Amino acid sequence: MTSRKFVGAHVSASGGVYNAPLNAKAIGAKAFALFTKNQRQWVAKPLDSETIQKFKTALQESGILPRHVLPHDSYLINLGHPEEEKLEKSRAAFIDELERCDALGLDKLNFHPGSHLAKLTKKQKEDAALMQEIENKCLDVIAESINIALEKTQNVKAVIENTAGQGSNLGYKFEHLAYIIDRVEDKSRVGVCIDTCHMFTAGYDIRTKEAYDKTWNEFGETVGFEYLSAMHINDSKPPLGSKVDRHHSLGKGEIGLDAFKFIMNDARMDDIPLILETIDETIWPQEIKLLYSLENK
Ligand SMILES: [Zn+2]
Ligand SMILES: [Zn+2]
Repeated sequence: MTSRKFVGAHVSASGGVYNAPLNAKAIGAKAFALFTKNQRQWVAKPLDSETIQKFKTALQESGILPRHVLPHDSYLINLGHPEEEKLEKSRAAFIDELERCDALGLDKLNFHPGSHLAKLTKKQKEDAALMQEIENKCLDVIAESINIALEKTQNVKAVIENTAGQGSNLGYKFEHLAYIIDRVEDKSRVGVCIDTCHMFTAGYDIRTKEAYDKTWNEFGETVGFEYLSAMHINDSKPPLGSKVDRHHSLGKGEIGLDAFKFIMNDARMDDIPLILETIDETIWPQEIKLLYSLENK
């Protein structure tokens, strides 16, 4: 039986975006993630037609389908920024990222929702009502950012990633993802990417079948599987609920291999990009093989 799983890694696009499909193919990937521009810079020169053509040709030669490619946006972008000027800069950069994906013939853009950046005392953080007010205000801004961006672009789906909840990053609860989606006008162009490390350090256990089922039931009820557009497959250095974002190689961290076996045998994760962001890229070929070996054939 041929596998319905599309596993790959976040590969390098250095030297040109067209190198990414080649790098993916070289490690035996059936999916991949990439940055379509330098992720640490605000502006990049637009993709010229030659680069776009070279990318499309390389992608075709790799045998990887456009829908199994998951571009990631720049780390500088904060769609929930509390300051007007910086919010505008982020929104403009996000629109540019969506346009780059569209130019490359890709249909998804993966991004972290945003951060409220409020400096809070320990006492304020313990005030649940205050925290909810601060978070909801930021989530409203994020949803508005997405609406503006979708209005100004076409074809590409905005794929919101869940986070570990480090610092003031939002998106660490399924409720945050649902809150944003609820406020996005064009539901056909919004999705989510669930990162296993982030999910785990945010407090969602997936280590046993029982815990795995409980967590995904909660996801189904809160967000809905129709929005699950991609996953990041990472083990975690820090423990459950630590809210610290540190990835680890599969089977070497706190999550352990069973969770990845459950994923590889879960039809709800069929036909979406499953992307490794594990720390040792020299073993990505083995990790991809390992994941496929966990499938019950
Ligand atoms: Zn991730
Ligand atoms: Zn991470």
